Amino acid sequence: AIDFKWIRDNKEAVSANIKNRNSNANLELVLELYEKMFNLQKEVESVRGERNAVANKMKGKMEQSERQRLIEEGKNLKDRLAALEEELVKLTDELQQEAQSVPNMTHPDVPIGGEECSTIRKMVGSPRNFSFALKDHLQLGKELDLFDFDAAAEVSGSKFYYLKNEAVLLEMALVNWTLSEVMKRGFTPLTTPEIVRSSVVEKCGFQPRGTNTQVYSIGDSDQCLIGTAEIPVGGLHMDSILADSLLPLKYVAISHCFRTEAGAAGTATRGLYRVHQFSKVEMFILCRPEESEYYHEELIKIEEELFLSLGLHYKTLDMASEDLGAPAYRKFDVEAWMPGLERFGEISSASNCTDYQSRRLGIRYRPSEPPTTNTKKGKGNLAPPQFVHTLNATACAVPRMIVCLLENYQQEDGSVIIPEPLRPFMGGLSVISPK
Ligand code: AMP
Repeated sequence: AIDFKWIRDNKEAVSANIKNRNSNANLELVLELYEKMFNLQKEVESVRGERNAVANKMKGKMEQSERQRLIEEGKNLKDRLAALEEELVKLTDELQQEAQSVPNMTHPDVPIGGEECSTIRKMVGSPRNFSFALKDHLQLGKELDLFDFDAAAEVSGSKFYYLKNEAVLLEMALVNWTLSEVMKRGFTPLTTPEIVRSSVVEKCGFQPRGTNTQVYSIGDSDQCLIGTAEIPVGGLHMDSILADSLLPLKYVAISHCFRTEAGAAGTATRGLYRVHQFSKVEMFILCRPEESEYYHEELIKIEEELFLSLGLHYKTLDMASEDLGAPAYRKFDVEAWMPGLERFGEISSASNCTDYQSRRLGIRYRPSEPPTTNTKKGKGNLAPPQFVHTLNATACAVPRMIVCLLENYQQEDGSVIIPEPLRPFMGGLSVISPK
């Protein structure tokens, strides 16, 4: 349930936030529709009351003519109520649709502006010095026979790929190693459906429709391919009230991700860097509202531990307001050094979505302690349910990690060293050598 009353009462702050995030949300229209819906709801209630009153009157004794009059009145009220209810459903739909684009509020420390305003939280390591002419991942892949983009272009279209040979083992190793590392930290593993209802995509704060959508919709159905496991994991506890003792719920999900990459032209689009389908290991946390900032820090810490173990040179960023996407209250990105691109490239992000998704998905919990002002405990004095906070973070987005590893660990003889933690997951393989 979106809190329209709160939006109305905090109109100025919401409007400033929309501006800060360069969002195209139409707040005036949302509030106008809300007002209309509010009035229509009242009208429906009142007509329903009149209809019930007529029905009650009919239970008593009366003249035949009076009964006839009441029957007539009851019928008119019933027809009017049906029409009003239909209008209310339409209006509610329209309001929900329009409200989809209203973004979450923004953490006070988030820098305001475009991507270039994002601030660096931390810088770890330094770029490797190459004493030989370095190759980018495409050239390495070609020489080591690790990918086939040409066949994939024929079979599927551009920005698809086949992985071959050690690249397949590397993908499996990255997924399995990441999964085992994150599970060690108390996360429950999941695989998820990769086709979900559009309504769930919307409730997670993504736009399944429109010209610039990142989401692939399936033909005449109301279903989409997932762009990230965040969506099915978000949906896992939809419409429920969780026990306080269950929180925090921490999941680590493996899935494929599908993205149209509409409007991505001009950015690094070659090879594996930006593709339509990729494997990803994703972390997701549902927690009490007062704990979400703590878990946001925990998620970025886990990401850093993973990237440190792989020996990457990286920086972490506090992303600027225009780069947050609708659901995030705050987003930390990790960018790793990509020698082939000669710059940093985003390899993961961690977002605190506060109650943005849980309100839409209907995920609440019941605090175990009733409100402190009332000391009487027991039946009838349960604390009211509250919306949980949700957070999501990339543990490993495979293709970009492969780009990063190949380019950073290439040797003069054309081989590529496998980082130590991954070797046990690749049958002990320590180097990919030219065939
Ligand atoms: P996001 O869910 O958009 O924050 O993306 C999570 C991570 O997935 C990013 O940090 C990238 O490493 C990776 N990623 C996003 N889009 C693509 C893509 N089109 N191709 C390959 N990797 C991607």
